[in-house]
Amino acid sequence: MLQTSKSEFLEVILDDHASRAITQNGIEITIDRHKCIYSMYDPKGCKKCLQICPVRVYATRPIEKRDFSIPPRERIDPTIWVILPTWADWCNGCGACVEECPKDAITVQFGEELIAP
Ligand code: SF4
Ligand code: SF4
Repeated sequence: MLQTSKSEFLEVILDDHASRAITQNGIEITIDRHKCIYSMYDPKGCKKCLQICPVRVYATRPIEKRDFSIPPRERIDPTIWVILPTWADWCNGCGACVEECPKDAITVQFGEELIAP
């Protein structure tokens, strides 16, 4: 496991296989990291879930901290970024992200309803 965070409302888990959020209001959103082709820096890299979600569930996060003690020219950038369903408790179950994802990487469990590619 690379990273996990927990608030009063949801738990966000990032590991080598998935980024996932599980909320107290019965929502679970999973992005398969092996399928996702998100790229922060490549203009052709996918950002569709970020762009389509009407309530802005998705956010990007660096998974490695930059070492600012290294002079900028010697730093290895771009830092690796991933997409997380950071604000999953705002999800309204519309399914737009699942529909738009070109790699079928997203699954949304919205209460009793499973929204899957
Ligand atoms: S199902 Fe709709 S509201 Fe929920 S994360 Fe996807 S696009 Fe956003
Ligand atoms: S739409 Fe799918 S492939 Fe594109 S960034 Fe989102 S999860 Fe990754």
